[in-house]
Amino acid sequence: MLKIFNTLTKKKEEFIPVEEGKAKIYVCGPTVYNFFHIGNARPFITYDIVRKYLEFLGYDVTYVMNLTDIDDKIINRAIEEKISTEEVAEKYTAEFFKDIDELRIKRADVYPKATDHIKEMIQMVETLIEKGFAYESKGDVYFNIPQNKEYGKLSGKILEELQASERTATGSGKKNDLDFTLWKSAKPNEPAWESPWGKGRPGWHLECSAMSTKYLGETFDIHGGGTDLVFPHHENEIAQSECTFGKQFVNYWMHNGMLNLNDEKMSKSLGNFFTTREVLGKFLGESVRMLMIQKHYRSPIAYSFERLEEAQSSVERITSTYKRGLEKLNGNLEGGDEVFAQRIEQFKEGMNDDFNTAKGMSIVFEAVKEVNILLSKLNLNETEKNILVGEIKFIEKTDKIFDVILKKEEEGGGKFGEVMKILIKLRKKLRAKKDWELSDYLRDELEKINILIQDTPNGTKWDIKK
Ligand SMILES: [Zn+2]
Repeated sequence: MLKIFNTLTKKKEEFIPVEEGKAKIYVCGPTVYNFFHIGNARPFITYDIVRKYLEFLGYDVTYVMNLTDIDDKIINRAIEEKISTEEVAEKYTAEFFKDIDELRIKRADVYPKATDHIKEMIQMVETLIEKGFAYESKGDVYFNIPQNKEYGKLSGKILEELQASERTATGSGKKNDLDFTLWKSAKPNEPAWESPWGKGRPGWHLECSAMSTKYLGETFDIHGGGTDLVFPHHENEIAQSECTFGKQFVNYWMHNGMLNLNDEKMSKSLGNFFTTREVLGKFLGESVRMLMIQKHYRSPIAYSFERLEEAQSSVERITSTYKRGLEKLNGNLEGGDEVFAQRIEQFKEGMNDDFNTAKGMSIVFEAVKEVNILLSKLNLNETEKNILVGEIKFIEKTDKIFDVILKKEEEGGGKFGEVMKILIKLRKKLRAKKDWELSDYLRDELEKINILIQDTPNGTKWDIKK
């Protein structure tokens, strides 16, 4: 029985989906104005594993992640780069996909863009005004917080407490200082859409309410994000959705802990390695996954090169053990059912306890240890062979969730392998033309990102530096 820690009730609860056999998940996605921060890789990986584990349990999962493509940050970036906001969003959406592919994150079923759903958002605001939960003021529309008696139920913040902490914003047009923007009137030269309140654009909180309910229904199963989003973002999402539809918005609220890089010494030693792209220039996507998986998703993670290096050696260990195990068996995975079933039981016991990946991964490493003992023997009897098969099958099965075994090095392994083939061909052509300068340049640049090119009597080979 799967249990999930629900931020809404502050308890671990049995997972009972709205529709039997189906799981509907919404996760707050990136604002596509930049390469994403390594801290944001954590929710992306966390909910990728949540999704893959639910699929492993047999659920038919629908996974939705929004792309915020209109926002102050995007407008500022457009001015900075002297391109349109659409071009900014398009450019960084493409970069986002490159990074999540490297992190071996399965693509969501839908990536709704805010600008494609202005109509749905306007409809929601109209309903909220009609029902007395929102009001217009000088072309802006605000959510009237005191009208929503349940406001604060997710974050546990009490209304009076919130009011006491806010200073009076004079001349803002708000009735209450806490009221948040649903619709923002347009400033000159900003992208804007027609609305009943004049030209403007939606507030950030609104897009998640409008798009999650559009694709997953008015009540759906799981909403995920980082703990930094509990207040005000998720609190506001609940207020908007529940006041619009008059029913529970989300049954299970999940929040992952932060990747901690606040330590000054740590920040300094990390230099510029703050975007996922920069980290992926030095470490494998699988290693970043391993770093996250080896901790429970709700615990904070201290981020450092040392931790990433440790994670990378764990990735190398599991990969080499798995591959050597397969070799020893000549790829024949018949039998081993009992060992396999036992391991799966242990694994599920860990994972069913609020997706305890640290526990789940420790079971995988027990299997790795067992395989290594068997591999050290010259000949295996039937019983040992059977155990080896069971353990290898188990490692293979759980890797459908964790995805940490290296697959890139294999011939033609994914897009990465294909790109390497093209680069090697290009280098061969350069060498044939005796363009040593460019061919060496290509080799040296690849080496800088830990890809080694070697010319052997059997042709040119490439490998990832260990
Ligand atoms: Zn959101």
